[in-house]
Formats: sequence, structure tokens, C-alpha cells
Amino acid sequence: MHRFLVSPDNIQGNKITIEGDDFKHLHQVLRLKPGDRINVFDGSGTEYEANIFSIEKSSAIAEIKATVKSETEPEVRVTLFQGLPKGEKMDLIIQKGVELGVHRIFPVITNRTVVKLNKKDSIKKTERWQRISREAAKQCRRTYVPEVTEPVTFDEALIKANTFSRALFLYENEEKKCLKETLKCYNINKIKDIALFVGPEGGFTSQEVENCKNLGYNIVGLGKRILRAETASISVLSIIMYEMGELNL
Ligand code: SAH
Repeated sequence: MHRFLVSPDNIQGNKITIEGDDFKHLHQVLRLKPGDRINVFDGSGTEYEANIFSIEKSSAIAEIKATVKSETEPEVRVTLFQGLPKGEKMDLIIQKGVELGVHRIFPVITNRTVVKLNKKDSIKKTERWQRISREAAKQCRRTYVPEVTEPVTFDEALIKANTFSRALFLYENEEKKCLKETLKCYNINKIKDIALFVGPEGGFTSQEVENCKNLGYNIVGLGKRILRAETASISVLSIIMYEMGELNL
């Protein structure tokens, strides 16, 4: 089934308007006609089955036939607080994170973040990241498009993470607590949201680690090898989803 993502504003009553590049794709590439069935989702968790009702000059109108129950959204909400890495690494983390079921991503400017973004760059980057999130959500059949926010400071990230039931903080110098042991103590039925902190390529400073320890975060190590930031985020998201039963059929 062809799937289209529209803004919630394009859904009025039981009519959906598809415009822009999606309209071109629907009309010129797929050559869909009135009566053809499509699926449409609005990015906030709802998906519809719809029939194309009419093809206009620059848009298609579809009529909602049924609401589809989403089976692709994880119950556990993992929010990734990602120390902003250099270059295109953030793109990869977003794409793979969305496929793996991340709920939201905060790029974080930490002490060792080397990237310098002014307000204009920051807005442009965020638009790009959100586009990547939308494309990944479409491709992997999610009905929810995870928000990627504008970069926040480390202190702002701590305030945001304050409301989560658990906060996991990956630290390569942690020698006592490993991820396996920590996740084993998480009650899958009770824990609905997890904040996951991963550092940029330079890692976290000892002061940042100390702050998070004092706030009661679970500081965990991932074994003896140092992983690159993107490897750490992607593998830990997979492990959390596996442990929380989100990779079951
Ligand atoms: N610059 C640091 C490594 C940073 S790796 C150094 O060379 O020592 C980037 C981030 O990935 C880290 O901040 C941490 O959050 C995560 N990470 C990488 N390897 C890890 C490991 N073995 N255990 C826990 N976290 C790890």
C-alpha cells in the first residue's frame, strides 16, 4: 500500500489533501486515480486507509475509509540526548534511531562539542534532521514522526530529562555498572520512558558525568572497547528495544 505523510492541517473531517512533492509522486509517478486506495498518516500516531476521491490541478483529495491501528510504535518511549557530533554523523544517528523506534531526539551541545552553530545554521540543520526523521518514519512504517529539536545546552538537557522514569548515561570509563545489569533492573511493565545520554566524539567531561551521577542517572559502560558516538547510540537503542520486548513479532 502506498503511504503518504500529511500535516494534520491537511485532514479536515473525512477529507485529506495531498499536495507538493507527494502529490507529484502520487499523480505523475504512481499514476494513481480516483478510487485507488492509499494509506495516509499525520505523523502524530494516527494512520488512515483512504480512497482517492479526486485529482485536482496541484493536489489530490482522498476520503478516509478507516483508521488503522498502529502496530509499529514501541510502548517504551526512549528519548535520545545526543552530544552533537561532527559532520554528517547526526544524520545517521537520526535515521537509524527512528528505524529502531526512538521517540524524540535532542541534539546536545556539551563541553566537548566542537561544532559551532549560529541561530541560522541551527534552524537549517534542524529542518534537515526533521526531514530525515520524516523520511525514515515513512520508510519503516512508523505512524509517529519523532521530533528532532533544535540543539539544547547540556544544562537544558538535564532539565528536560528530569521528568523521565529512568535516565541512562553512557560513559566509557564506567567500570562497575554495565548496560545488561542496569536494564535487568528495569521493570518493563512500569518503565514507559527512558532518557538516553550519549556523548559526542570527544566524550563527556568528568564534571558532566559527576552532575548526572548526583542527579541519580544510571551511568553505564558498554564493555572494554570505545565505540564511536554513532555506534554507541545505535547499538544501545537496539539493545533497549530488545530488552523491553520491542523487537518481538
Ligand atoms: N573520546 C572518548 C570516547 C567518546 S565515544 C575517548 O576516546 O575516550 C562517544 C560516546 O559514546 C561517549 O561519550 C559515550 O557516551 C559513548 N561510548 C562509547 N564507548 C563507550 C563504552 N565503551 N561504554 C560506554 N559508553 C561508550
